[in-house]
Amino acid sequence: MVTVTDKELSKLGMHIEPSVGDIDLVCGMDVSQKSRYSLQYKDTTYFFCSDHCKTHFRDDPEKYIGG
Ligand SMILES: [Zn+2]
Repeated sequence: MVTVTDKELSKLGMHIEPSVGDIDLVCGMDVSQKSRYSLQYKDTTYFFCSDHCKTHFRDDPEKYIGG
């Protein structure tokens, strides 16, 4: 007899963990969290595809965060 509880089902459904900081907020591109272009702002590390995007973010972070 196999019993699958709701708890176990939701555990299976949580296979994909939400990742933070792997989208370049400037251009919207997916970036690896191993990207060398990262910037820490308000306790959060943001990642960028290029130095170009990183500079844009640094100049006006609130614009990209949506604050
Ligand atoms: Zn970019």
